[in-house]
Amino acid sequence: MTTSRDPFTRGLDYLYGVRSLALKPEMVDRVHDMEHRDRICTWISEHIEAVNAQLNVCLEACHACFHSWEQPLVQIFAAPLAQAFGLDALCNLQTTPISILIDVGRVMPEDWLLVVAHEYAHAHAGTPGHHPQFARSLAHLCLGLAIALPPYQAGREDSLRFYPSYLPTKDPLAFWQGGGEIGDRV
Ligand SMILES: [Zn+2]
Repeated sequence: MTTSRDPFTRGLDYLYGVRSLALKPEMVDRVHDMEHRDRICTWISEHIEAVNAQLNVCLEACHACFHSWEQPLVQIFAAPLAQAFGLDALCNLQTTPISILIDVGRVMPEDWLLVVAHEYAHAHAGTPGHHPQFARSLAHLCLGLAIALPPYQAGREDSLRFYPSYLPTKDPLAFWQGGGEIGDRV
């Protein structure tokens, strides 16, 4: 996403890149965060490739649950998502390929696969809602990935909004600045 050699510029280019893939640009608002932007951008320039490589491993695991002709065209990137939207991850079906963005500061690395599976189910079902079609895709992924099957009840699809569940991190921004409880693990 960038050609610059300057770490800050590279990081900022990345942020603008993922911003263009979000459902709304404001969802990646750290480009305007003058207080933390420098540290975040520098951290991104040094670590984001390794983080995205990990996310792509999760994506490949999801792909492997389906025949090649059933696999949606998906790209995946880590992105710090604005608090106001209350999202740890999103799936943008309007881009080609479909874009999955994960705020890796909000999810522990051991849970990344769970979050990717949820978003992948949206990509596979081709719908942002948590309808029966989404439920079928998610259940198929859970079987393939050895995740406990969702407690599906007809007419209660909304219960799948937060499935599979996981514990949130305490400080979402710490990871993006190379500190905090999970910052040094990647
Ligand atoms: Zn969802």
